[in-house]
Amino acid sequence: MPDVCHRCGGRVYPVERVDVGALFHRRCFRCKICGLQLSLRTFNWDQSNNPPDIYCQAHMPRHVGCIDSEAVGIKTAIGAPKRGVALSDQVSNYDWSMYQLQAFATFVVVVVVVVVVVVVVVQFF
Ligand SMILES: [Zn+2]
Ligand SMILES: [Zn+2]
Repeated sequence: MPDVCHRCGGRVYPVERVDVGALFHRRCFRCKICGLQLSLRTFNWDQSNNPPDIYCQAHMPRHVGCIDSEAVGIKTAIGAPKRGVALSDQVSNYDWSMYQLQAFATFVVVVVVVVVVVVVVVQFF
C-alpha cells in the first residue's frame, strides 16, 4: 500500500512526511478548517470524526461527553505514542492482572508451606 497524504491523497516521500497515525505532507499538515500550518506540538487529531482529521486549537471539534478523543489529542500533541494508545493501555492492564494473579498464587503457596512446616515442627516438639 503506497504512502498517501491524508489531506491531498498524493504520494508521500519519507523526507516530506509527517506521521501522526495517518500520513501528511509537511505542507499539508494544516488545520482542516482554516489551513493554519500545524506542528507536532500544536495539532489536534480528531479521531472521533469520520474521516479523522487534524485541526488547530481553535477549530478542534468539541464532542460533548467524548473526553477520550481530546485526551488522545493532548497525548498525541506532547509526543506520546500515537498509534494504538488504547491497545497499549489494554496490554498494560492485562499484564497488571496477570501480575496480581501470580503474586496471589505465590502468596498462597508460601502460606501453605509455612502452615505445613509449623504443623511438622509442632508434631516433633
Ligand atoms: Zn498532501
Ligand atoms: Zn483552524
